[in-house]
Amino acid sequence: MFNNRVKINELLQRGETGHQVTVMGWVRSFRNNQFIALNDGSTNNNIQIVATLGNFDDALLKRITIGASLKAAGELVPSVGKGQKVEIMAASIEILGDCDAEKYPLQPKKHSLEFLREIAHLRFRTNTFGAVFRVRHALAFAVHQFFNNRGFIYLHTPIITASDAEGAGETFRVTTLPFEGPPRNEDGSVNFKEDFFGRSTNLTVSGQLEGELAAMAFSDIYTFGPTFRAENSNTARHLAEFWMIEPEMAFYDLEDNMNLAEEFIRYIIQYVIDNNATDLEFLSQRLAEEEKSKPQAERSEMSLTEKLQFVVGNQFERLTYTEAIEILKESNHNKKKKFQYPVDRWGIDLQSEHERYLVEKHFKKPVILSNYPKEIKAFYMRQNADGKTVAAMDILAPGIGEIVGGSQREERLDLLEARMKEMNIPSHELWWYLETRKFGTVPHAGFGLGFERMVQFVTGMTNIRDVIAFPRTPGSAEF
Ligand code: ATP
Ligand code: MN
Repeated sequence: MFNNRVKINELLQRGETGHQVTVMGWVRSFRNNQFIALNDGSTNNNIQIVATLGNFDDALLKRITIGASLKAAGELVPSVGKGQKVEIMAASIEILGDCDAEKYPLQPKKHSLEFLREIAHLRFRTNTFGAVFRVRHALAFAVHQFFNNRGFIYLHTPIITASDAEGAGETFRVTTLPFEGPPRNEDGSVNFKEDFFGRSTNLTVSGQLEGELAAMAFSDIYTFGPTFRAENSNTARHLAEFWMIEPEMAFYDLEDNMNLAEEFIRYIIQYVIDNNATDLEFLSQRLAEEEKSKPQAERSEMSLTEKLQFVVGNQFERLTYTEAIEILKESNHNKKKKFQYPVDRWGIDLQSEHERYLVEKHFKKPVILSNYPKEIKAFYMRQNADGKTVAAMDILAPGIGEIVGGSQREERLDLLEARMKEMNIPSHELWWYLETRKFGTVPHAGFGLGFERMVQFVTGMTNIRDVIAFPRTPGSAEF
């Protein structure tokens, strides 16, 4: 058997010395031709391997370079040196893969995040990305655990759909028609009847509508999958391909929905606090370091770990859209014309600068805004009795802005159909969606959480491109 190794994380956790161990990993550093720092990705902590002088050939020692992979076996002993409790006294070292130190892009120095994006195939080997992707994994695991504990069914909704759920954004077309001379209708438009699915199709922008169908049988479901938006917004919080978690619950109203979303966010953050302490500590220090280059006024008041503790320990602030508009309108910021988009009337769509003012300056904590004007929200949101607003809710997070968008859904067929007509949504295409309102309709609600924005929030990474392995953004699909 080749693989009788123990992972470095487990080895360090156990810390039990006096027996033979085998480890494998990649060399992070090699000091004094004697001390190897080896990492295998199970933790940011390296294991020190001591290659006692004279015990190993020069030819072998020369091949122990940064980035090389190797297998080392020997006794785990208490370390006499500083910086680690235990180390391995190497009895054997076998190089598995050489690494030309001259050509290896990851030099033992600080690289910029921009540079590391260009070598996304190697950036997993840095401490920053090691921590980010272990935290991302932990969050994903916690998502499933949270819903499973509550009896939700994990539903896989289609990636290829014929509907643009809500006009959420530009879609990516899916087609097998030729670019040169596609079949045409008499009026000259492309004839999608000849296309693979016999109609025009695109990559999904949301699994919500399909999710609602299943909630009308299972009561509680969630989706967790990739979504695609061809929006040409080159921001630090938009991707063309991102992962979304979308629970849908029958017998829920807006308040139940807000309660679940808040409990959910706290749960997954708590999971990371409990299980990824080393990674969070590292990311917290990394962020503090990064913030030193910012002017004092722009630095956060809390460290990353303090912020996360604060979020799990405190209720989110809840207020209506109408109340938020009042706060914004009356703010000195607005009066001094410091918003790019002035807040002058009820009904405007909130810009990210407004959202960030509310969470970062005014409340200094996550905020749930509810009951938005119906004109700025999707057709399926439940209409309130005032005739002006819908039972929508957005959760805004410090440093990120919108992290969750949700609503109570319109379960009343007549109101839903009327709203679709007003908004020019072709109801014949959504006949299946409307049927749930005809056959045993129930009050229900749901929300969508952008997974990468959540990972950003928990890791403190400022750019969304640094929390997904291989980001897809306008003009960029390398790897
Ligand atoms: P925004 O106003 O920030 O573009 P949105 O209103 O388009 O968001 P929704 O359609 O409500 O967002 O999608 C639900 C969630 O998905 C959002 O709250 C956000 O967390 C996430 N999200 C939306 N668009 C993107 C994107 N392009 N990249 C990453 N996450 C996204
Ligand atoms: Mn958007």
